[in-house]
Amino acid sequence: MIKINEIFFSIQGESSYVGYPTVFVRTTGCNLRCTYCDTTYAYYSGTMMSREDILAEVAKHPAKYVCVTGGEPLFQKEVFELLRDLCDRGYKVSLETSGSIDCGDVDARVKKIIDVKTPDSGEVSSFAEGNLRFADANTEFKFVICSEEDFTWAENFSRTKNLFETTNVLYSPAFRRVDENWLAKKILSESSSARLQLQLHKYIWSPHSRGV
Ligand code: SF4
Repeated sequence: MIKINEIFFSIQGESSYVGYPTVFVRTTGCNLRCTYCDTTYAYYSGTMMSREDILAEVAKHPAKYVCVTGGEPLFQKEVFELLRDLCDRGYKVSLETSGSIDCGDVDARVKKIIDVKTPDSGEVSSFAEGNLRFADANTEFKFVICSEEDFTWAENFSRTKNLFETTNVLYSPAFRRVDENWLAKKILSESSSARLQLQLHKYIWSPHSRGV
């Protein structure tokens, strides 16, 4: 059984799957408390569901893409099996995770979007360093940038860990804390190899705002 906050159909707002009609499976619970979190409603509320019931709910929607998000999905052990079930049924599956829990048991077919929490998130020490071994073409490392200091920190982290050469690095401006144009110019002026990511779901109609 997995505690589920919500399952809904919308447009993917992030990652290389941005723009695709996607079923979102939002799990309940998170081990972090980021300063910019916009899914605080997912910390506790939800309904216990079997994997079969979750899969049946997902199947009600005409989507090939499923995004498992939170909260922190890996906070609940059975989510690893849910990810495998979704892949077995032929869905393209992405996982949005805070980076604080090791992804070693995540099915290899899943596209992992792994956050690296910056200093201004309030959770900078949360990153599970072992997740760096997944720095490859099927993984995306996401930094939510809250300030100039965060930008500098993210650049240092990415360069030190060789992320720009091995994987996809996304910089996302913290919504209403950082100007998108400032971040765009900063990426160019600093010759960063990061990709600017605007959270599309913040700008278009969506049944729900989303966090992680
Ligand atoms: S932003 Fe994501 S990782 Fe951070 S507290 Fe909210 S749900 Fe948890």
